[in-house]
Amino acid sequence: MSEVSLVLRSTRVVTPEGIRPASVAVTAADGRIAAVLPYDTGVPPGARLEDAGDDVVLPGLVDTHVHVNDPGRTAWEGFRTATRAAAAGGITTLLDMPLNSLPPTTTAAHLRVKQDVARPRTHVDTGFWGGAIPGNVKDLRPLYDAGVFGFKCFLSPSGVDEFPELDREQLRRALTEITGFGGLLIVHAEDPHALAAAPQRGGGDYAGFLASRPRAAENAAVGLLIAEAKRLDARVHVLHLSSSDALPLIAAAQREGVRITAETCPHFLTLTAEEVPDGATEFKCCPPIREAANQDALWQGLADGTIDCVVSDHSPCTTDLKTPDFATAWGGISSLQLGLPAVWTEARRRGHTLADVARWMSTGPAALAGLAGKGAVEAGRDADLVVLAPDATFTVDPAALQHRNPVTAYAGRTLHGVVRSTWLRGTRIAHEGTLTEPAGRLIERNDRP
Ligand SMILES: [Zn+2]
Repeated sequence: MSEVSLVLRSTRVVTPEGIRPASVAVTAADGRIAAVLPYDTGVPPGARLEDAGDDVVLPGLVDTHVHVNDPGRTAWEGFRTATRAAAAGGITTLLDMPLNSLPPTTTAAHLRVKQDVARPRTHVDTGFWGGAIPGNVKDLRPLYDAGVFGFKCFLSPSGVDEFPELDREQLRRALTEITGFGGLLIVHAEDPHALAAAPQRGGGDYAGFLASRPRAAENAAVGLLIAEAKRLDARVHVLHLSSSDALPLIAAAQREGVRITAETCPHFLTLTAEEVPDGATEFKCCPPIREAANQDALWQGLADGTIDCVVSDHSPCTTDLKTPDFATAWGGISSLQLGLPAVWTEARRRGHTLADVARWMSTGPAALAGLAGKGAVEAGRDADLVVLAPDATFTVDPAALQHRNPVTAYAGRTLHGVVRSTWLRGTRIAHEGTLTEPAGRLIERNDRP
């Protein structure tokens, strides 16, 4: 134990075995957890003691769904601002989506451009998803070898011209190629034909917008994905699941041994269609926030394990793009810094614990991406830790958040759970709202066994 440099102690540490009093011993040399010891273990000579008291120590959150938009659309967001928001919100690892930046991450050369932009700016550990678009099948293997964690595709228009969707035949070709080298395809699952058949009223009325993105579109796309995953024995993941009607399909496929997983997002779990004010397009995202009854079923899907991740889908833009017309406003919800308190506020109301939240927001996403060193407070993992005051509350002021533009659907909400500090590989990177200089690393698939 002579190399232990830090002991972080709390009466409530969220470990894989449950929440208990413990002392987390960290070694400076590799920034990893050396051991999770009994609460009253003596502090080794030379080591520093941080006593979190009754605040809860959780594994750092792993957010596998973030649109950083850098380079190219840096008026919307950027690596510095996004990762500051992440660190302040208890996220220690972030995976960037391949679209909305220019270039999109659709070739190995584009990946290098993005890595060079991110490297000096990132406050948390950052990795990248690649993109599967029409015509880039030949680029997928080189991207995978260059370190992306898997590939994202759309089945309906993405919202940006440089990242087109795949049709059914293109999906098959991409999935065949990716499965050939053991990769993962993550999918924006809305069926374009079902969307085209839906009424498109436009305007500021949320019910009209909701009708334009029906559950049927998600259900059909998930059905297609299950069929293709089964046919090719492929590994697929449903991004930002909103339609609770798709849960029985996914659960049945999982029981059959189809390799399909699903995530949902804080906004689907905490906001409802019934409460969106007219013209409030900060609530617009695709697929959309649905009814309260749908939300109840999503929580059930988390409780029974059909859904294993809760990730932000932070997809910001400038305030002017949030026009009051739901048809034309940019679709995306900014929530990077708020995911943990938003989910915890609703989870506690529904009788869940912070061990559940850690499983959904850290362990699950780490497993999805194959991040063996992240996602749990246990010996051998990186000392990525969050100290949370779970009963403290705050009211969301968009202007006080770290992400670039002061737009968020959570404005004015009072949330439970204040992040006191965030630790990345044994170094405190955020403390009571103050951030250090960027200390994050770029991470790649298979960085460690
Ligand atoms: Zn997204």
